[in-house]
Amino acid sequence: MMIVMKSKATEDEIKHIVDKIEEAGAKAHLSEGKYKTVIGAIGDITLIDRDVLKGFGGVEDVVSISKPYKLVSLEFKREPTEIKVGDAVIGGDNFTVMAGPCSIENEKQTFEAARIVKKAGAQILRGGAYKPRTSPYSFQGLGEEGLKILKNVSDETGLPVVTEVLDPRDADLVAEHADILQIGARNMQNFILLTEAGATKKPILLKKSFSCTIEELFMAAEYILKTGNEKVILCERGIRTFENYTRNTLDLSAVPLIKSLSHLPIIVDPSHATGKRELIEPLSLAAMMAGAHGIIVEMHPFPEDALCDGPQSVTSVQFEEMMDKIKNLAKFLGKQGNFDGQS
Ligand code: PEP
Ligand code: MN
Repeated sequence: MMIVMKSKATEDEIKHIVDKIEEAGAKAHLSEGKYKTVIGAIGDITLIDRDVLKGFGGVEDVVSISKPYKLVSLEFKREPTEIKVGDAVIGGDNFTVMAGPCSIENEKQTFEAARIVKKAGAQILRGGAYKPRTSPYSFQGLGEEGLKILKNVSDETGLPVVTEVLDPRDADLVAEHADILQIGARNMQNFILLTEAGATKKPILLKKSFSCTIEELFMAAEYILKTGNEKVILCERGIRTFENYTRNTLDLSAVPLIKSLSHLPIIVDPSHATGKRELIEPLSLAAMMAGAHGIIVEMHPFPEDALCDGPQSVTSVQFEEMMDKIKNLAKFLGKQGNFDGQS
């Protein structure tokens, strides 16, 4: 159930409604929009009398949310959520490019990647310190040492960074070193991790599992929003199909669909979706055309030496070329985005 407050509702009137919801044993979630505050009543709402609520001062309307996901839904919040990270804004009319290696391997590689990312005009550096590898014998990431490298590179270059958190016990540590916490596809339904990551209050990049539905993605995001953290960026990174030429199949239809159901930003990862570097540019452009709020792309200064996901990492030259096309298309479509870059 959601309670839409009048644009002139006072703080006391809002607090009164919150108290009433909590007295009835439900949980109140405030969403302060540009013009109106909306209060979500979540949980057991059986003791809440809609007509009584409607009669309280400052209340414009009381509406039920038909979907199983509540805080994530467009019914709950009509205005698109925009998330500010450094100079970048993710969501709304903005197009944001996150790029960098699959994993942090050493300081030299990370600095070089950051230099290329920044020069080409992308806004956020990616790089994994904790890697969810299919094989336990593959490189698992540098762990805390990788986080320190990432933070150091971020401080030196001014680029905000996104990195994955694999274990709920590491959520605070990762939050101390990164600007955005990534929850990987394999952990999309790790509900303890979702809650712990949400509680850090950092923006969360939530990747859609390759074997889950859009509704399951929304329900996973709901766990994060329920912690009071609304800064969730959804990510389509390919789903499992019978096609073998690509690693997964990029489901671009998810982009406009998600936008029609949720206020949260949605970005696309063509790297893990395809596993092939030659497909990254066309699918990045297609993602923008489909209405995505950005992309996350693997780029390695020396992909042939990469410890992880080399074949899907674009080279610096490929990245610069695709960024030129992205900037042109963004201009054509009237997208916002700070693509200035600097060497
Ligand atoms: C990654 O971004 O490095 C990654 C492992 O992605 P995914 O969780 O989508 O497989
Ligand atoms: Mn990868």
